Amino acid sequence: MAEWEREEISGRIAASIPVRAKLGKPLGGQAPFGYSWKNKQFVINESESPIRKLMYEIFLRTLRKKTTADELNRLGHRTRKGVLFSDTTVTRLLKDTNAKGERIANYTKTSGDGRRATLKPKSEWTITKCPQIVSKKTWEKVNRILAIQESRSARLGRKSEYLLSGFVKCSCSKKMYIRTSLKAYQCRSCNIKIAVVDIEKIFYDYLSECMNSHYLARQVKNTEGILQKKQLLLEETMNEKLNLEATMDSFIAMRMDGGITRENFIENLHSLNTKLA
Ligand SMILES: [Zn+2]
Repeated sequence: MAEWEREEISGRIAASIPVRAKLGKPLGGQAPFGYSWKNKQFVINESESPIRKLMYEIFLRTLRKKTTADELNRLGHRTRKGVLFSDTTVTRLLKDTNAKGERIANYTKTSGDGRRATLKPKSEWTITKCPQIVSKKTWEKVNRILAIQESRSARLGRKSEYLLSGFVKCSCSKKMYIRTSLKAYQCRSCNIKIAVVDIEKIFYDYLSECMNSHYLARQVKNTEGILQKKQLLLEETMNEKLNLEATMDSFIAMRMDGGITRENFIENLHSLNTKLA
């Protein structure tokens, strides 16, 4: 067959696809898990559809794709090919709109080599009604949760990779942006680049210096506090000692004057001495 003939034929097939899809006719290829083609009709697969339904129920209970896959496998369910469910398979099936009764067809085209499928513009897609496996409400709820989880993990992923993104500034005071391909921060106006590893090292060193000096400052302050308290205590003790000595002096003077008895004097002297010791 000549090259131009092949192109002509595949072109004609391509042109007929949207029409066939609109009529709900099979376009070739297998029906998704939970459905079958029967006499060119897209119908519920009685053995698979309960598993497809269970998938939504488990996900709504656990909110985890991996846990949902594990639970299905644990219950003994397998894919059409007889292999274990993976979180990727579960996610793809949870997202597939046919479960809520909307079958999208004609949304991919196969590239020249016939292997890679690419997405067609949305205007070319055809949506036909099909039997539901779950309610529209259930489907929307599950897919809202999936969307939130995916946007969250995408944000966290970026953050953990470049911990300083959004904080690095160039000497010209403009913000520096990550150039992922270079693994560097770049100033768009001066074109200055700094490797991510370098800037993180600088930041790390600076941070540990700050923490060290902060730690030392606190230690010094603590020590100063203790020293001050001890000094006060020492002063108090010295004062007390002086007072006691003064008291003793006055006792001695009183005794010499004959103001107190010998017994009284000895008793007082004894108690003063124990206090001074
Ligand atoms: Zn700059």
